Amino acid sequence: MAAENSDGSASVGVLAALRGHYPTLARGEVWLVGAGPGDPGLLTLDALAGLLQADVIVHDALVDARVLRLAGKNAVLEFAGKRGGKPSASQDDISERLVTLARSGLRVVRLKGGDPFVFGRGGEEVLALVAAKVPFRVVPGITSGLGGLAAAGIPATLRGVNQAIILATAHNPEEKDATDWAALARTGQPIVLYMAMRTLEAIVAALINGGLAADTPAAIVASASLPEQRVVDSTLGKLVDDARNSNVGAPAIVVIGAIVRHRQLSVAQEDPCARS
Ligand code: SAH
Repeated sequence: MAAENSDGSASVGVLAALRGHYPTLARGEVWLVGAGPGDPGLLTLDALAGLLQADVIVHDALVDARVLRLAGKNAVLEFAGKRGGKPSASQDDISERLVTLARSGLRVVRLKGGDPFVFGRGGEEVLALVAAKVPFRVVPGITSGLGGLAAAGIPATLRGVNQAIILATAHNPEEKDATDWAALARTGQPIVLYMAMRTLEAIVAALINGGLAADTPAAIVASASLPEQRVVDSTLGKLVDDARNSNVGAPAIVVIGAIVRHRQLSVAQEDPCARS
């Protein structure tokens, strides 16, 4: 559904027909849009409405090229990871950039992988927009922790198996407010780890020390929903070795808990390419 007119009006017409209306991205406004885990089919209609109307799209590295191709023809794509010759833009730089673009009267989409408010620093950007009195809207996306489970055929909840699901980031275990892994282990509820590959060994050890059985089912879902998706079935005790031996790379989520045993429930979905 690429834009047919330079302003994307043909395609937003299709959205209006589907939805009854579509929200207008106004000049000087910023939308924080979740792009989902990768497959363009997992975008929301409002995310698409934003992409079609935007003058500028400030995006992260994790956003798939096929999603970016849905942008209106005149939209400028700006990679938030590297700008102005700096190796990596800081969060303050990105927030400031969004404010500057909006103040210059542009229609701005800030496009993030998954959901903007799930480990996506969307909160910080909203605070900056509020402080600068820039109008904004948040368009939620399918977070990779849940979209990744679906793509691998693992039910997020199953009656009689789990009553909760924990989404946790493993980004920096050295931080002062580091996660109490033993407390999470004690809940007995499945844990989905984001950004876990580098710190996996320490987290697995902490969960086992916290009382989680080494034979607890576990899986790694890498590049969920993308053609290169890979799923590694494992157990908590074998996870580190299996991660190493299978050579799976980022982005990946790790899921630990009894729900993994029920992976066969929707294994027909496993090949994301088979759907397109
Ligand atoms: N806001 C995002 C998370 C950003 S943190 C969301 O809601 O999904 C980045 C982490 O997300 C990665 O380290 C990885 O753990 C996870 N991730 C993002 N895309 C993924 C994908 N396609 N497959 C598996 N994990 C993914």
